Order: sequence, then structure tokens, then C-alpha cells
Amino acid sequence: MSVKNSLTIWFGKFMVKCLRLIGRDAGNAPGLVLWTLNKDCLKAFKVECPIIAVTGTNGKTSVTNYLSHIFASGKGKIITNTQGNNLDTGICSLLLANCDMKGRVKADYLVLETDESHVPVIYSKLKLETLVLLNFFRDQLDRNGEVETLILKVKKFLETFEGNVVLNADDPNVARLGRANPNNKNIFYFSVERYSGATDEPYEVGEGKFCPFCDTELVYDYYQYSHVGRFHCPKCRFGEDKPFTLIKNVDLSAPSFEADGETYKTAHNSIYYMYNLAAVYTAAKLYDFDKKILHDTFEHFEVNNGRLETFNIAGSELMVNLAKNPVGANMTLRVMNEQECEKELLFVLNDNLADGHDVSWIWDINFSIFRDVTRVVTSGTRAYDIAIRIKCSGYDPDKIVVRPDLDDAMEELFKNSGRKFAIANYTAVQPTRAAIKRYKERREANG
Ligand SMILES: [Zn+2]
Repeated sequence: MSVKNSLTIWFGKFMVKCLRLIGRDAGNAPGLVLWTLNKDCLKAFKVECPIIAVTGTNGKTSVTNYLSHIFASGKGKIITNTQGNNLDTGICSLLLANCDMKGRVKADYLVLETDESHVPVIYSKLKLETLVLLNFFRDQLDRNGEVETLILKVKKFLETFEGNVVLNADDPNVARLGRANPNNKNIFYFSVERYSGATDEPYEVGEGKFCPFCDTELVYDYYQYSHVGRFHCPKCRFGEDKPFTLIKNVDLSAPSFEADGETYKTAHNSIYYMYNLAAVYTAAKLYDFDKKILHDTFEHFEVNNGRLETFNIAGSELMVNLAKNPVGANMTLRVMNEQECEKELLFVLNDNLADGHDVSWIWDINFSIFRDVTRVVTSGTRAYDIAIRIKCSGYDPDKIVVRPDLDDAMEELFKNSGRKFAIANYTAVQPTRAAIKRYKERREANG
């Protein structure tokens, strides 16, 4: 190990120790300092086990949690960042916390959620074995720039990458990356057959309707959600690659799906979630996991981190889902509409740094599809903006209640019993979960 790398590790470990001594969680800080001092600090770590990275606009945290659960159930010690921390500095901190004084990281697998824009910089320094790519949607424009810029960044990385690439064949933004390196034979597409809620015309605002290779308009047989569906280019045949995994018979009422001739029961019932499981299944298949582990995980495992998380409070069921972009929000509205009953919606919108200060994305949410929504409560730092947005969709303004404070919002939401949904954006989701728990405690304390 070079002197510079030795010093990098020693200094980093020293920082972690000091932070712990003063009772602070090391978190992101050591990585940030190390990165500032030495841009090549990731090269100082010696990782000898396979690294599996998960990236894409929506679903990264869920898929990383699922894969970590499967890898841990099957094959020993894993290191993972299931709580997010998916930037270069976060991953650097994670390795620092898990290495010895020589920078050796001892594990059987590393499963790493990785921000799309950080894939090239991290994996030009750490040897990646498998990259799982879920989808590309418009997201947090302030930070990421246009989605095309992001796709091109990942494409550039893939042009020289020869490891496994797991790709969503039904998202043209992702499927195109299968051609980034014609010499890479390790391209594994997953696709999901038409489900009962698929439509012939696009249902929500989407992107990627033109062929990235010849600019011809793509032809869709059907749309599953947003721009995800069965498509092909009539001119250059883009979109006709045979999938490695084909998910069949998605049944949202069971809920279940079929893969390689076997039926798997699942814990949730949205098509968006089925796509996440298709990615998980495909990555797990590459590592040859016992089917029993997959059955057990798909049926029982819960991420419980504001991702389709359910709370039961005084006879009411509340489902919370994170949505940081129009596709995520439209997906939650779709899940909500698929419940054949009256329901109330809480929408918590913040505009903190990590959310992007620009909240104009809420105008791309399709609120006109509301079905049996009897009341809406809005909260968060931009509670009024989201209330106006919903009013402008034609929803009765008398049924919208604005409560910027989250505790007030909970009191309001639970005035009535019945089915409830909550959509919260990035920095709103954890405070929302905390407010739900506080409300539950107050309610139980008062009998
Ligand atoms: Zn084409």
C-alpha cells in the first residue's frame, strides 16, 4: 500500500474513533473530509468481495434493502447502506467504518445503493461486479440536471464496463444502455408482462418516447406506468432484445407474480413494486440463490422506511409512500385508486436542499385521476403550493385542509376513521413517519 493510501486510511479511522469518543455517529462526515483531502481515497480501500450496486431514479432504497436481505439470508456477511447515504462521500464513510487499519474491507458481499450521478466516479475507483439499473425519470432537476445528461453519464461508464448489467427492458431510458458496450456479453434484461392496469395510451406524463439511436417515435404495445411498458423502434428494432427474466401473471389481488415457472406471493400490490421485485429477482438469479429464500423474502420482507409502509391507528389503515418526483407521486395515486373504497390523502411537501428548492414538479402529478378521495390534508414547508396544485386539477377546494405543522396535520387527518394514504417527498418522509408515531402514542395514552 502506498504511503498516501496508508495515511488516508489511518487518518480516516482516527476521525471515526474521535467522533465515536465524543458520542457522535460517524455518519457522512469522515467520508466528506477524506474526499476533500484525497479525491482518490476510495482507491485506498481493498475490497476483495463482489460489489453489487443499485441505481436509478425510483426504488433504489427498496431494491437495495431486498437484495441485502437475500444476500444476508444466503451467503454470510454483507456490508450495505440500506439507509441511503448513496453519494461518493457516504460510501467512503461506510467503507471506513468497516475496514481494518490496512484498508481491508472484510465481507462476502457489498450491496450498495448508489446515486445515478455518482456511479462513474465511485466505480472507476472500486471494482464493481454487478450494476442494477431500475429506471430514469425526471427527478430533482436542480441537482441532477436533465435526465438525458444523467443517462449519458452512466452510459459513458458502461462503455468500458464488462461486469454484469441488470437492466429494465421496459424503460427505454434504461434499455438503451444495453448497447453502451457492444463487447460486454453480461447484459441481463428484465421485463414484466402486461398487467391488468396497463393502458394503450400513456396514463401519466412520461419521457423517452423517441428512439435514442435513430430518433424515430417509439411504438408502444402498452404502458404499465409512466413511460414504462412494452415498446419497440419500428426502424432500428431497439426494444426487441430478449429478456433474461420475464415476469408473468402479475396478479395485484393475490398479490403474486410468476417467474421461471414458479409463482411468488408478494407483500405489496402495485406494478411499480413488481418492477422492483423483477430487478431483485434478476440480480438474485445471477448469484444463484435458493428459491426458498426468494419466496420467503418476497412474501414477508418489509422495508418499512416510508416505502409503501402501513400503520394501523385506531382502526384506520394509513399507507405512507415516499415520492420525490411526479412518477413516484402518480404511482402512489394509482395504488390509492386501485383500492375500491373512500379514502383521505395527506400530502407532505418540503423544499429543503435535498428536495430541490424548485417544487414545479408537482404540476406534472396527475391529480385529475382522483377516485373516491373524500378529503385532502396538505402539510410541510410548501403545504400551500400543493394545496393550490390540487385545487387547480379541479378538486373541490372545500375538501382541502392546509396544516403546515405535521402534528396538526395528523390531528386533522385522523378526525375521521377509514382508509388513508400519505405521500411525502424526500426530506418530508422521516418527519412524517415520526409525526405518525407521535400521534399514535398520544392517541393510545388518551385511551
Ligand atoms: Zn430506432
